[in-house]
Amino acid sequence: MSFDFQWQAEIPPIFQSVEFDGPFQKCLICNREFYHDDHSPYVIEKIFVRAEAIVEMAVCLNCLMEMNGEMSEESSLTVKNEFEKKVDWSHRASLMPSIANAPNSLEGDEEDPSSEVVAPQPNVERWIESCLLDGTPRQDCRNYQICGLFLGNQIVLGQLPYVLSGTAVARIGEKLSKKTRDQMGDFLETYFGMPPELCSPSGPVPVLF
Ligand SMILES: [Zn+2]
Repeated sequence: MSFDFQWQAEIPPIFQSVEFDGPFQKCLICNREFYHDDHSPYVIEKIFVRAEAIVEMAVCLNCLMEMNGEMSEESSLTVKNEFEKKVDWSHRASLMPSIANAPNSLEGDEEDPSSEVVAPQPNVERWIESCLLDGTPRQDCRNYQICGLFLGNQIVLGQLPYVLSGTAVARIGEKLSKKTRDQMGDFLETYFGMPPELCSPSGPVPVLF
């Protein structure tokens, strides 16, 4: 996964926290505050069953790297291969407005209408309208999860955000080692108590790139 912070947009409502009734404020694991501390990037993941978010979390990039580091090499490779085989990253790139028209900064002085420059705005919805791996439209998925990268009050657009259908996630889950699945289960149990929907062996697992 590579990150490029050139394109940012307002955070769409689907990435807001149900629990906190607004934007996520801090890292689930280390409590780093996304708006006040050093503005480090963070990732939000939400797992939906039908229209209901049964798991939602925001984790800073440092903690995420640590979590991913704990995954066995074999399981990391399984996830990586699945993405490499199925994802057309060039299609993602085509969702960006033309680079030639890229705004130098999105932090312009919006209070002064005379200085307002109409820059092309990326349409965030296009990143999350269908499953990244199998192409199923989000609205047709009974279960799905969404994942995105953020900086302060902005969503960063690039390889993320994306949607994974429940079917695509289950397919990856089947290929993961029992150890990895147990680790994911322990993680959910620690932070959320295990939602009953996740208890079945074919239940959704969080797949953070
Ligand atoms: Zn953290």
